Amino acid sequence: MSRVLIVGAGLTGSVCACLLRREMRNKVKIVVWDKSRGAGGRMSTSRSPSNGACTADLGAQYISATPFYAQVHHSFYEELLAHSILKPLVAPVEGVITKEEGLREFVTPEGVSSIVKHYLKESAGAEVQFEHHVTHVLRKGAGWEVQRKGGTPETFDAVVLTMPVPQILQLQGDVCSLIDESQRRKLEAVSYSSRYALGLFYKAGAQIDVPWAAKYIADNPCIRFVSIDDKKRNLDSPDRGPAVVVHTSVPFGVRHLEATQEEVEPLILKELQKVLPGLPQPISIKFHKWRYSQVMSGVAESPGQMTLCPSPLLVCGGDGFTHSNFDGCVESALKVMEVLRSSL
Ligand code: FAD
Repeated sequence: MSRVLIVGAGLTGSVCACLLRREMRNKVKIVVWDKSRGAGGRMSTSRSPSNGACTADLGAQYISATPFYAQVHHSFYEELLAHSILKPLVAPVEGVITKEEGLREFVTPEGVSSIVKHYLKESAGAEVQFEHHVTHVLRKGAGWEVQRKGGTPETFDAVVLTMPVPQILQLQGDVCSLIDESQRRKLEAVSYSSRYALGLFYKAGAQIDVPWAAKYIADNPCIRFVSIDDKKRNLDSPDRGPAVVVHTSVPFGVRHLEATQEEVEPLILKELQKVLPGLPQPISIKFHKWRYSQVMSGVAESPGQMTLCPSPLLVCGGDGFTHSNFDGCVESALKVMEVLRSSL
C-alpha cells in the first residue's frame, strides 16, 4: 500500500483525501497534516469562547456556482445539498456591484468549515493530524522524508502540497532544488490579496437592527464587508447570540500587514462604529490576519496542479493553481487526482 501525505486540511486537501479514498481505498493509506488546530484553512469557522454554538466564518462567506461550474461540478453540489451542508442563500445582501447571470448562491448553516469537514469525514480511514507544521521535504530513496516542527520525520511514497504558493516556496529540504526555472517563474508570479477579519460575538438576545444580512461597503477606507453571520446563514439564534463578521479592504490589509493586533484591531472597531453606529458591545472578538487571502494572479494558464517530481510523486495543488473559490479548489483537486491516479 502506498502512503500518501496531503499537506493542508483546507478545501483542496480535503477533497483530494475524499477522492483518493473513494477511488483507491485498497491501494493507498492517506495521511493529512495541517499546521492549524482544526480543519478548514481559508474556509474555517470560529466559535465564540463563551458559547460554542455561536459561530462566525472569518474567511469564505458563500459558495457561488456559475452556470458553467454548476454543471461541471454538478455531483459535488448535489452531494453537499443532499447532506444539507449547502442551503440556498435567501437573506438580503446589499452593495453587490455585479452578479453573473444564472449564478446560484449557497450558504452553510453549520459554518463554511462544514464543507471541509464533510470531505474529511468521507475520507474515512485517513489519518488526519492537526498541529503538524511541515518544514522540510527531502528525497529519501524511493520516497519522501517529511519533517515537521517538534515531531519525528515520517516517510511517504507520494506528497501533495495544498497550501498557498508562497508557503510552498518557503518549504526547506529538496523542494526548491526540484523546481525548474519555468516552474519557479510561474510560482513566484502568483499573488494573493491580504486582509483582516474580525468575528464579534454577542450575548443571547443582543439586537443588531439592520435590514440586510450582509453588506459590501464601498465608501470606507478600512471596512469592505460586514455580515450578520447567523442571519446570512438563515439561522434563528435566540439562545446563542448573534455574530458579526467584518472584512477589511485589501488596501487597508496591505498597509497594515506587519502591524500587531493591538495596533490594528482598535482601528477596525473605530471604523465599524461609523459603518454600524450603535452596535452593542460584543462579549468576545476573534481577530485574524489573512496574509494570503484570495488569489489575485494564479499560476499561468490555471493548470490545477504542478508536478514538482513525477517519481516519487511530489505535486502541488490549491486555489493558486486555478482561482479562489469552491470551484477553483475542486478543479485543482480533480487535476491532482489525475496525477495521483497515473502515478500510484
Ligand atoms: P487553504 O484553505 O489555505 O488550505 C491550506 C491549508 O494548509 C491550511 O489549512 C493551512 O493551515 C495549511 N498549511 C499551510 N502551510 C502548512 C505547513 N507548512 N504545514 C502544514 N499545513 C500547512 N471562496 C468562496 O468560494 N467564496 C467566498 O465567499 C470566499 N470568500 C473568501 C474570503 C476571505 C477573507 C478569504 C481568505 C477567502 C475567501 N474565499 C472564498 C476563497 C476560499 O476560501 C479559498 O479559495 C479556499 O478556502 C482555498 O482552499 P485551499 O485548500 O486551496 O487552501
